[in-house]
Amino acid sequence: MHRALATVNLESIRHNLASLQGRLSPGTSLMAVVKADGYGHGAAEVARAAQEAGAAALGVATAGEAVSLRDAGIEGPLVVLGPLTGAGLEAAVHAGAEVTLWSEQFIRELVRVGRVMKHPIRVHIKVDTGMHRLGLYPRRLPGFLDAIDTEPEIELAGVMSHFATADEAGGVAGGEAGPEDSGQDGDFFHYQLKAFEEAIQPVILRTPGKITYHCANSAATIGFPQAHFDMVRCGIAVYGLSPFQADPFADGLRPALRLTSYVADVKRLTEGDSVGYGRSWIAPRNTHIAVIPIGYGDGFSRGLSSRGRVLIGGRPYPVVGRVSMDIITADLGGDGPAIRHGDEVVLIGRQGEEVILAEELAAALGTINYEITCNLSSRVERRYEG
Ligand SMILES: *Cc1c(COP(=O)(O)O)cnc(C)c1O
Repeated sequence: MHRALATVNLESIRHNLASLQGRLSPGTSLMAVVKADGYGHGAAEVARAAQEAGAAALGVATAGEAVSLRDAGIEGPLVVLGPLTGAGLEAAVHAGAEVTLWSEQFIRELVRVGRVMKHPIRVHIKVDTGMHRLGLYPRRLPGFLDAIDTEPEIELAGVMSHFATADEAGGVAGGEAGPEDSGQDGDFFHYQLKAFEEAIQPVILRTPGKITYHCANSAATIGFPQAHFDMVRCGIAVYGLSPFQADPFADGLRPALRLTSYVADVKRLTEGDSVGYGRSWIAPRNTHIAVIPIGYGDGFSRGLSSRGRVLIGGRPYPVVGRVSMDIITADLGGDGPAIRHGDEVVLIGRQGEEVILAEELAAALGTINYEITCNLSSRVERRYEG
């Protein structure tokens, strides 16, 4: 019995890779994005499974994440997608990671670090086509290419961009808005796509070599085949979670993570008894409560107080009362006598015929599935199967 256990099915990760790759034309490769400890699933284990299933590259956000993957023995192309400062850049480059580049100042830093390396540093230039965060404006790209052309320490590996709205306008499942009624956001996606196509023309003309052009995240990979280019960068879909906050199964994905706890006690309550902090829930009738040793300290959000559901014995029961740091409580109603100390409790995933999706928890909390799995804390033990 584990008080808080995340079981990650690596067979599902490989299935999701195969499903995503099935959408790509021959010659388009897939980068598996494993930042934030593999969206809470465990970066090294997911990276290994993704590579087994044919991922051509791995993506992370920070130097520390790149170094941890190498320390775990993960080899192969690895790209740091986020910004790096001096020490981080050195660490990333020594870990053999490729880096993302968009500023002149960063060129100088790269040259400095590159001088002591035996091989040139492989870089991906990030173009800002409308996200207005990282990246250089397309009109500056030709001058930027001139600047790195003269530096033998720098080797151009790719040119990339990132979409602001791909998740709102595409997908079989369609998300909130299908392509037919995507309005502004569909327009903005196409505006960004066109800006990227135009931006890379001069690069294609002057650098006919092997440059990888890439801009699609999971949503664009599923929703917009015209945005695939040479490589897609998939995070959320690798884990079997829907980039559209819809049903992942509808897009051929299988959620890989199951979050479980157990029934630590079954408590009899008389009508009018309250449960937990603040007495926020009062039993409307005589009932039984399951006491479950998981809480917001594990990443089961306090916002689910009297809103979430759990599965026990293949049936759903409402979370009642406050979610505390270490404990939640669920109303078992008349089923109380049938439920035993030690019974498995599912908080995310399948049990019998029932399933609780991370998307359901996200909707109840007004957030997205990404945050649900990223928030699982280090107190949750990770197990791998498949
Ligand atoms: C995180 C990230 C991705 C993956 O996005 P998903 O929506 O999880 O597929 C792709 N590209 C960049 C630059 C990222 O930072």
